[in-house]
Amino acid sequence: MTKLVFTVDVDRDVAWPINGSHVGGSKHHFEPSFESSQKGFFALLELVNELSVPTTFFFEAATAKRIGPVWLGHEVACHGFDHEDFTGKKTGRPLPAVKRRVILQKAKTELEELFESRVYGFRAPYLHWDVALLEMLGQNGFAYDSSVVAGELEKPPLPELFLPSWRDQNAKALSGYLWPLMEGKRAVEDYVLAVKQAVSQNEPYVVLATHSWHTHASVEKGVLSEGQANRNVGRVRELLDAFLGLDGLEFVLGKEAVQAKL
Ligand SMILES: [Zn+2]
Repeated sequence: MTKLVFTVDVDRDVAWPINGSHVGGSKHHFEPSFESSQKGFFALLELVNELSVPTTFFFEAATAKRIGPVWLGHEVACHGFDHEDFTGKKTGRPLPAVKRRVILQKAKTELEELFESRVYGFRAPYLHWDVALLEMLGQNGFAYDSSVVAGELEKPPLPELFLPSWRDQNAKALSGYLWPLMEGKRAVEDYVLAVKQAVSQNEPYVVLATHSWHTHASVEKGVLSEGQANRNVGRVRELLDAFLGLDGLEFVLGKEAVQAKL
């Protein structure tokens, strides 16, 4: 049985690194914006509840605070406090260890209080990780990480829920992120085929990921109309629907798929 983990990164709209600042911005806005992310979060929450799909939400604490206390009934995981580029890969400003620790602890505490739920998992903003960051997660009460793409790191220092790296039928790279699906550059079928192949190869788990803002905002076009947003939510529905009742596949939370001691 292959486990399918549906994950949503709940972060600022079209999160974008800002040169020289460790705090993330929003691509189409002068100041960080949270409106599309909030709308998309509630639309996706309604969808996964309706379909009974257990979902792991990786919350950036600053976005979670704007969403406010909400009974979730799914997994709450952490995606930084202010969408920090911990390694400085895009901002040119790596965060020193002491600051990293403060941010991780602050974000975890904030999320646990807000949702009254233990936080086990972490996903680095922009997937910018280094081994020191993964080690620090383990030292600060996190049980697993989900920032690493399969094949990038052989022996992770704490349990890792790897993101997939696929090739489609035309040998074109496909990741577990629905990014190109939301931008109209990929079809639902591309993901369905990739997951079905993982099932036929008896993969222990598959991780799919999207961003809460991505149903309501586009990287290329900015904020979307209500009609366009509804179409995107419909695409996610079509995708999840394709997996419900599929033989050899079951939806689980990230903390259940990864071999972590909770
Ligand atoms: Zn993010």
